[in-house]
Amino acid sequence: MGTSVGADAMAARVRGEDVESVLRRALERRGQRYTEQRAAVYRYLAAQRTHPTADDVFTAVRAEIPDISLATVYKALEALVGCDLAVKLRYGDAAARYDGRTDPHSHAHCRVCGAVRDVAGPMGAPSLESLGGVDGFVVEGYRLEVVGRCADCA
Ligand code: ZN
Ligand code: MN
Repeated sequence: MGTSVGADAMAARVRGEDVESVLRRALERRGQRYTEQRAAVYRYLAAQRTHPTADDVFTAVRAEIPDISLATVYKALEALVGCDLAVKLRYGDAAARYDGRTDPHSHAHCRVCGAVRDVAGPMGAPSLESLGGVDGFVVEGYRLEVVGRCADCA
């Protein structure tokens, strides 16, 4: 299952393994190619806590690799998601955001500017019983989201 690969990547980082080795192993496990562009995208994303859009990543990585295209950045981000090194966050019609942090955590979403921040602590899960059951659904997890206005927009 996806989360175990993400956990492997986290464990590798804790062991002090470099970002490139983690990426190379994860990509090759999924039959994907390791490239310098993908490494640059992953290095950037893994260092962010801002949940950047593909455009944000493109702008940042272009400083390092001037001839990289938005399409290449987008495909690199999707490859990272595909090998559980990143999570894609969708907010309706707004541009998707990407998170290099793959351990379970919750997000606070600003409904004014769209900023996404990590919630520091664990949030209590509502019991499934209190939600009235989910009608034959095999539950594999849950997501909680804090909605409001960020510090800049409040
Ligand atoms: Zn805001
Ligand atoms: Mn996050």
